[in-house]
Amino acid sequence: MLNQSFKDHLLENTDQEFVDKLSPYLEGINIINASLRRGIGGITTPKLIYINLEETIRSLGMYGLAFVILHELAHYKRIKKKGKKWYLNYVLWSDEETYVKDTILEERIADKWGIDMVKKIYGITMVAPRDIEILSESFSDRTRVMYRNIRDSIKTENDWDNMLNSYVLNVR
Ligand SMILES: [Zn+2]
Repeated sequence: MLNQSFKDHLLENTDQEFVDKLSPYLEGINIINASLRRGIGGITTPKLIYINLEETIRSLGMYGLAFVILHELAHYKRIKKKGKKWYLNYVLWSDEETYVKDTILEERIADKWGIDMVKKIYGITMVAPRDIEILSESFSDRTRVMYRNIRDSIKTENDWDNMLNSYVLNVR
């Protein structure tokens, strides 16, 4: 069953048809509306997905929101498919080159699936501005900075959970 509170929040911000079309894809997924630090659109963990619903719809509109939800859902499905061991190895133990390479790959997979699904569900063709961004030098550079910050301060699964949770300002 789709988390009722998330569905209610979706309905408040979109319309019945929009929600009805998206709902089947969110069945059984623990998805939560939360305000997130630095205006981040979504965060996915092995257990749940946080979506910054109101802020995302304000900045990207209804189909932009659908894209963000489906992008995060793609990450979620990848973690489920590849397993928690793979996930922890990626975020906690991989070397820098592997981390950067895997991040670029995972973001491209999630973007592509998100775009394909928005097209399939709503018949809307989204442009993919992030594809160029993800392949740019500056994206790699930022990912490297992120990697070093993570490796400096995060040693255990618990540290990682705490870091992710620190981005969650409040759950709605
Ligand atoms: Zn992503």
